[in-house]
Amino acid sequence: MVAERPAAGAPGASGPGGNRAAVLAELGRHESGLDARRLHAALWDSGGARISLTTVYRILRRLADEDLVTVIRTESGDPLYRPVAIGRYFLLCRVCGRAEPFTAPEVEHRLRRIAREHGFGELRYRLGLHGVCPRCAA
Ligand SMILES: [Zn+2]
Repeated sequence: MVAERPAAGAPGASGPGGNRAAVLAELGRHESGLDARRLHAALWDSGGARISLTTVYRILRRLADEDLVTVIRTESGDPLYRPVAIGRYFLLCRVCGRAEPFTAPEVEHRLRRIAREHGFGELRYRLGLHGVCPRCAA
């Protein structure tokens, strides 16, 4: 599906940290998630990072281990990768991987209070309700 890319570019130009940031930035532009191949193509198209597909996979695995990206296993294709949003909530379709954001200020308020009671700051959390979207249920 993804066209072969020329082996040009400057692999070391932005360093591994820069590549990580580029991957996260690119994922941030695709709220419903991207599979690794499409992410790889998007990185090249945007000039974000000219890195190999293997490197994209390695970075995604690392980010997933660190809980910075969510891996969404769909029943209809490659897993999708999505950055973990701070204090945001999503309904996730486990068939097509579609994400429907919603807000829940009362939940947020409660979570922050619980964290404060335990002396925790700089919170990072996500709340994903996995289900089947109306389109896939039809
Ligand atoms: Zn769906």
